[in-house]
Amino acid sequence: MHNNLLSKSFLRTARNFRKMYSATSGEAVGKNEALVDILASEGIVKSSLVEQALKQVDRGDFVPYIEDAYIDSPQPIGHGATISAPHMHAYALEWLKDSFTEGGRVLDVGSGSGILCALFFKMMNSTGTVVGIEHIEELTELGRGNLAKSFQNELDEGSITLVTGDGRKGYEEQSPYDVIHVGAAAPSVPQALKDQLSVGGVLMIPVGPEHGSQSIKLIRKISEDDLEEEDVLGVRYIPLCDKDHQLKYS
Ligand code: SAH
Repeated sequence: MHNNLLSKSFLRTARNFRKMYSATSGEAVGKNEALVDILASEGIVKSSLVEQALKQVDRGDFVPYIEDAYIDSPQPIGHGATISAPHMHAYALEWLKDSFTEGGRVLDVGSGSGILCALFFKMMNSTGTVVGIEHIEELTELGRGNLAKSFQNELDEGSITLVTGDGRKGYEEQSPYDVIHVGAAAPSVPQALKDQLSVGGVLMIPVGPEHGSQSIKLIRKISEDDLEEEDVLGVRYIPLCDKDHQLKYS
């Protein structure tokens, strides 16, 4: 995907289109709910907790192409990044659901559009703190702008925060985390992410080579020295990498 395609003026046009569209916001809510119902009928959304979270966060707030907001497909968001397909968000929420607690702490590495930060907050019954870390400043701003549409209070209060930085180092300031989600594939599991997990916490991370076969791992911290690892799905994610490397191919 070439950068120019998602230039600022393009994104502005997309936003204006969204504004026009949101005049029919009842329709948007209906479409978002219908999308979640399809994921449930396919057996991807299994629990009512995940169903409710997905229904409470309008995917239309997080995509540049509103006309494709409610189809089960990823979308480019610029700078070599994508908002993942709804079924991937649903899978992640189902895998992680037992680790979200009221007042918990969550880290989303590679927060991109910001949608998962909103969903994680909903999974904690609108309590706790979610930090999203993104290495491209423009994407941090994009995510913040998307979240501001329905989560301005949470941004103001610091219950949802987006920061710019290298997510391979985690975000020590607010650690340890009950849940760490990584939205890009790492060649191996970064030590900092294991270190910043609380005992009883879980790390979801796709691991494998760029353009190669990758697998999503769930890594649970059983005790301070014990990690338990499980492979749950073969995937193709964009790489968890240096900023320059990502921008070279965008
Ligand atoms: N889950 C998000 C974004 C997925 S795309 C969504 O659905 O919207 C993966 C994101 O990881 C991209 O935004 C990319 O910029 C980011 N990323 C890649 N390497 C990173 C790194 N080293 N540190 C932080 N973010 C990174």
